[in-house]
Amino acid sequence: MSKAMETDIQYLPGVGPRRAALLRSELAVATVGDLVRLYPFRYIDRSTVQKIADIHPDQSYVQIVGTVLKVRLLAKNGAELPADKLKYNLVNRLSAIIGDDSGEMEVVFFKGVKYMHSRLIPGHTFLFFGKPQAFNGRVNMVHPEFDAPDNAQAGVLTGVYTSTEKLKNGGITGKLMCKLVASALDLVLPTLEETLPDYILKEKGLVPLSFALRQIHFPVDQNALAKATYRLKFEELFYLQLSLLKQKYIRSRNAVGLPMPRVGDAFNRCYRALPYDLTGAQKRVIKEIREDLKGGRQMNRLLQGDVGSGKTMVAVLSSLIAVANGYQACLMAPTEVLANQHFANISKYLAPTGVKAALLTGSTGVAARREIHAGLQDGSIGLIVGTHALIEDTVVFKALGLAIVDEQHRFGVDQRAKLWAKGAGGVAPHVLVMTATPIPRTLAMTLYGDLDVSVIDEMPPGRKPVQTLCVGENKRVAMYNFIRDEIARGRQAFIVYPLIFESEKLDYKNLELGYEEVVKQFPEPKYQVAIVHGRQTAEEKKFFMDAFAAGRANILVSTTVIEVGVDVPNASVMVIESAERFGLSQLHQLRGRVGRGAERSYCILMKGYKVSKESQKRLDLMCATEDGFQIAEEDMKMRGPGDLEGTQQSGLPISLNIASLARDGIILSDARGYAAHILDLDPALEKPGNAVLAAELRKDKYQQKDYSKIS
Ligand code: ADP
Ligand code: MG
Repeated sequence: MSKAMETDIQYLPGVGPRRAALLRSELAVATVGDLVRLYPFRYIDRSTVQKIADIHPDQSYVQIVGTVLKVRLLAKNGAELPADKLKYNLVNRLSAIIGDDSGEMEVVFFKGVKYMHSRLIPGHTFLFFGKPQAFNGRVNMVHPEFDAPDNAQAGVLTGVYTSTEKLKNGGITGKLMCKLVASALDLVLPTLEETLPDYILKEKGLVPLSFALRQIHFPVDQNALAKATYRLKFEELFYLQLSLLKQKYIRSRNAVGLPMPRVGDAFNRCYRALPYDLTGAQKRVIKEIREDLKGGRQMNRLLQGDVGSGKTMVAVLSSLIAVANGYQACLMAPTEVLANQHFANISKYLAPTGVKAALLTGSTGVAARREIHAGLQDGSIGLIVGTHALIEDTVVFKALGLAIVDEQHRFGVDQRAKLWAKGAGGVAPHVLVMTATPIPRTLAMTLYGDLDVSVIDEMPPGRKPVQTLCVGENKRVAMYNFIRDEIARGRQAFIVYPLIFESEKLDYKNLELGYEEVVKQFPEPKYQVAIVHGRQTAEEKKFFMDAFAAGRANILVSTTVIEVGVDVPNASVMVIESAERFGLSQLHQLRGRVGRGAERSYCILMKGYKVSKESQKRLDLMCATEDGFQIAEEDMKMRGPGDLEGTQQSGLPISLNIASLARDGIILSDARGYAAHILDLDPALEKPGNAVLAAELRKDKYQQKDYSKIS
């Protein structure tokens, strides 16, 4: 990198220590290079000037040429202050009426009133630029930028930079940002080094970096902006993929896998005893896994499948392959409730095979635990199901060959690493990670860039769609009546409350109040209501879960602890309280708890009084589709990939500067294909023409990409 790029931002003309501190804390801009790489998040077409009469409050930014008609200084209570013996400290705001030939509007300033007062002289005409809003039934603008009409237009397209209240208060306005960026470019561009090899620029038709940086900040026209944007997005995605693929290549060359050539009798016996046929997707995925286990390299596979798509069966059959080859398998679940349930299901499947399974969780007693430890060590236990208890140091396997992790995003990297270290003969076990959080393709390519991905994209037959509706408080009575009807038909209902870390105390309070209300509505002895939440002991949870699973309780009131995996086919109603507070993928997971039986099922989203536009969009989408992948795509578009569930929890940092995984899927695929092509020709990036690539990958940001390694 050039020296100029690394210059401390403080020394850029016009910055100084005070502003530098602000830029650092508010925008993470510490060097001149950081500023140059801080691109506008949108552009305003300043070639258009609008008429006042045409302006309405839902427009974003507008530009008008207006003449100042009247200026008033107002106190907090709205009283006008006399202009003659004025005390500025009494002034709350300045209100100016401006007009053009179409009409009049108000502009308001709360800050810098004295200065504004000196400039906004009645009779003078300015170009005003700001965001219109509705105020008392009219349109006005608060703190518009204004300038003399001729020197106001910097370019046709003006970049808008991220700003914060602190930046504005510190005098770092949009206009100043433009000035600073301009002088940063002047400093940097003369010695700028190109970050892509020439041949790539040619082959991909990309503009040079210096052009791209200049135009991304100060585009001469839309065409130049488009070229600059494309170059920068392509480069960003290309390097991300190049670094991921390079790791994958290195690993696949180095990682030996435990050989598992046999399928075995147990597999066949289990398969033949199944009460149903596997779906085509299940069969395909099992074949993919078999191929991996057979080959000499370590399997590292992500299995995606919507809730209820039948991942457990895939896990069981894969485990039996491991056992047939003299190895053991483990299945790790994120919660005790889930581990219990997996164990119960799996035991059924294993009955005809003679393979011994065991359950190890935090509540396993001392004696039982000792026995299990012994069984794992002497190899008599073929498949162990459990929670985090599995990764304790005291758990030693005779020959762990396959590690399966359900709902991987609940495990930290360290915990996974501990499990992998338990592999037979010090060789990492094959790894199968199962997730029901559908991840959009573009995101999977990036997060799991060095993983193989299998998808179960087909549901077992006979599933009825879940009817979803979203209602407000005025439908609460109807909702309770509906549950009564369903219970009268012998069905059961979930009622789920949000539980968010930041508002945990209040949320528990709401859960408690909700539970009391439900018990009042559904009194004993006619009804039984169970409750499950994170503050209960494992025994309490198990007691209530069992009661609900066995049909002894009609209703289960809970927090999202039931989100993942709980299987009660007789439940036909899922009520989600304060549904607007849940994320899309969470809502989708919860809804997946019903619709598992043969009967028609319902998901009722109860919404509060105040629902933001964004939240309403989520609720609408839930009502419109049951397709988990579509929901995931939309979720990503609405929230951006960094916030997607499954990425945050696993601590997978995605910090793209300009490209968007949600919107730039096509560029991403192209960049990935191209990166693979380059690595095919020069796997170690040793050719002189690729020196720039190798140098770029040595930078810190690509060194930290280990997150994508699941094993
Ligand atoms: P997931 O873990 O993917 O959410 P499960 O493995 O718990 O789904 O399966 C959901 C339900 O579907 C279980 O009751 C299981 O027995 C059943 N099931 C799985 N595969 C099939 C199939 N091919 N045909 C019919 N039912 C199936
Ligand atoms: Mg499951």
